Amino acid sequence: MKSEKQRKHLVKLAILRRGTHHSEESKKKMSEIKKRLFAEGRLIQWSKGKHFSAEEYPNKGMRGKHHSLKSIQKMSEMHKGLPSYWKRKHRSEETKEKISLKLIGNPAWNKNIRDIHLSPQTEFKKGRHPSTSTEFKKGQIPWNRDKPYLQIRGSKHHNWKGGITPFRIALHNSLEYQRWRKTTFERDNYTCQKCGQRGIKLGVHHIKPFAQFPELRLDINNGITLCKDCHNQTKRGVGLCVV
Ligand SMILES: [Zn+2]
Repeated sequence: MKSEKQRKHLVKLAILRRGTHHSEESKKKMSEIKKRLFAEGRLIQWSKGKHFSAEEYPNKGMRGKHHSLKSIQKMSEMHKGLPSYWKRKHRSEETKEKISLKLIGNPAWNKNIRDIHLSPQTEFKKGRHPSTSTEFKKGQIPWNRDKPYLQIRGSKHHNWKGGITPFRIALHNSLEYQRWRKTTFERDNYTCQKCGQRGIKLGVHHIKPFAQFPELRLDINNGITLCKDCHNQTKRGVGLCVV
């Protein structure tokens, strides 16, 4: 152990060295000395035998912080060519089911992948300015920025369902709800029951409204498969006549 005097001396030296850099030569020397000491067993790793549990060190590491863009790029460079995090790891069966259920009703990722450039001559090119006089300029402040439309907010909105959002989100994320969705899709053969389209983004619509009929929320007879457009029409108050 170091004596109090020695410790103070080391602190003084460290303060003097602040902001300066070791030369490449002395770095090499230090590393060689350290390597030798490690090999002889005279020096041990500072973290050896120590445990950093979450209870003891609640603020350790990146918890609650975000990496900067630069360090994200650095990490991405480091991990290039390495096997993926999920390789040889296994998700639980429940998680697998949840992921697969969440993805149904979406078009396949490779659908129409070749048709991205339908008409290269007429498609909108990046950097084109069709109307320079009326376009939104960079740095311009939109008139409604930070101005909520208080007159139709919350309970004043015509579509207010009584403040059920947190529960709604929790239910939509539940396995029971996702299973109900899947059963409805299967019954309707993944086809929009209004326009008859397939292979586009689909959703399940509650025939009797979600908010007013809580007991029918997971009733298979109260669900109907609709494509995104048809579903949006029901939201606009057009209504859907389904018997
Ligand atoms: Zn449709």
